[in-house]
Amino acid sequence: MDFGRRDLLLGSAALLLANSSAARAVPGRKLGYAIVGLGSYGLGVIIPQFVNCTHSRLAAVVSGDRAKATRVAAEHGLGAGAIYSYADFDRIRDNPDVDIVYVCLPNAMHAEFTIRAARAGKHVLCEKPMAVSVAECEAMIAACRAADRKLMIGYRCHFEAYNLEAVRLARSGAAGKIRYVRSEHGFVQHNPAAWRLKRALSGGGSLMDMGIYSLQAARYMTGEEPVAVTARESTDRRDPRFREVEDILDWTLEFPSGAIASCQSMYSAAQNHVLLMGDAGRIELEPATRYTGNHMWVGEDGREKAVTPPPGPRVTQFAGQLDHMSESVVAGREPIVSGEEGLRDMRIVEAIYRSVREGRTIRLG
Ligand code: NDP
Repeated sequence: MDFGRRDLLLGSAALLLANSSAARAVPGRKLGYAIVGLGSYGLGVIIPQFVNCTHSRLAAVVSGDRAKATRVAAEHGLGAGAIYSYADFDRIRDNPDVDIVYVCLPNAMHAEFTIRAARAGKHVLCEKPMAVSVAECEAMIAACRAADRKLMIGYRCHFEAYNLEAVRLARSGAAGKIRYVRSEHGFVQHNPAAWRLKRALSGGGSLMDMGIYSLQAARYMTGEEPVAVTARESTDRRDPRFREVEDILDWTLEFPSGAIASCQSMYSAAQNHVLLMGDAGRIELEPATRYTGNHMWVGEDGREKAVTPPPGPRVTQFAGQLDHMSESVVAGREPIVSGEEGLRDMRIVEAIYRSVREGRTIRLG
């Protein structure tokens, strides 16, 4: 009987170890990613980046389109066992090749697939915006915590060389005391049928998509948390693209130091710009947060000096992001852009919408 009990205990310990990616995440082994949603970002941008990674590899694909998934899997040397549909996604718990699930789905599906992934014993990298409400973000964090899994948000600019250099310069006092930030992001959304314009899938308009970059940049460039937000909206509701979601949002953040950030997001004009103004100069990025081709200037009152960041350890911001998540899992560390970071943004997003609705400044806790 003792022997049987000991077997049982050892058996449970082995099962725990087998189910724990952290236990299998040995230095030198590349962690396996399952990409959920083979769209323009998951398939077009992320999957091609695994060749630039040191600690990460593609291990599975999850898609509603079996033919596409089969083609993508074959192109990357993956067998039929590495293909999942949304319906049978939970089977991924039995795939020891998958350590991390990367959710690249429409915004309103982020919470469901993050929670299902955590329950399947997988760590999660989830695209921005983290979800479509504070309540969803809290449920995602709770699910990952309960399963003892890491949760990271796809805030790639934290791994982008120009943004990193701008933050370093700002903290080193290159512009003096930061007093004012402008942060504007947008593109022209031509397609009225796009899921980004359907509230049930997007959770909102330009703020949920491009506004996240404006908000994030205002926070990481100042290194401060806003204490108040005042917002207004401009949307032509006769335009068939904007029946359900907003076009232009314009909001001001007040920071504890007295600095203010003037932020915009829009679906009717192309804009990608971040400007930090301090009492001793300015740091300007335009474009600021693109995949490639960003530019930066430092000057006293204009674009006097173009700055090229020193080469970093990562090949690209995407590889940097993927490998950071893998390294965090191996080391048992919180990623630098954890679920808490996505939750902070979503609290501000909800306050921005509330400020528009109520026509007043909203104080942030
Ligand atoms: P796409 O529309 O190009 O792709 C989304 C994919 O999700 C589809 O191809 C489809 O994949 C799957 N999907 C499942 N259900 C639906 C549905 N009901 N409607 C539409 N698609 C569905 O979107 P993106 O790839 O541009 O965006 C995906 C996520 O990535 C968003 O949250 C977005 O904010 C984020 N993103 C982040 C970027 C960044 O720089 N960090 C840049 C671009 C996007 P399948 O056919 O395989 O089922």
